[in-house]
Amino acid sequence: MNREPVILCSACLLGVACRHDGKSKVYKKVLDLASEEILIPICPEQLGGLPTPRNTSEIRGGKVVTEKGVDVTGKFEEGAKQVLALAELFGCSEVILKQRSPSCGSGKIYDGTFSGIIVEGDGVTAKLLKENGISVKTEEDL
Ligand code: SF4
Repeated sequence: MNREPVILCSACLLGVACRHDGKSKVYKKVLDLASEEILIPICPEQLGGLPTPRNTSEIRGGKVVTEKGVDVTGKFEEGAKQVLALAELFGCSEVILKQRSPSCGSGKIYDGTFSGIIVEGDGVTAKLLKENGISVKTEEDL
């Protein structure tokens, strides 16, 4: 491919107010990178059809559930598929995702008890991308 490489990036890290609480989570090193690389903002939870703001969700027993126990796994899986399709369309070999999110977290996620405990694991989108050979970095790797 003879065009500039493109990196998909969690939109909240770039200042998009797409988080569950209706806010963003700007990360300066990601903003700095945006002046050097072509970063395309994506939010898997919005792409999966969830509203903003929305209920907090965590992964428990292989499912994604809200604090009230509503199973939102299907929406998370749909968002992951949409992000994978975009990664393939743009020929991305790497992405930068927000650590600890049930969609975007890579290697670290909350344990499903909604008590702030972090365990090893991947968010739904990070997992699907890795399974398809795409390198997942988080803001903490920059
Ligand atoms: Fe950010 Fe990912 Fe959560 Fe969207 S799904 S708000 S991009 S961490």
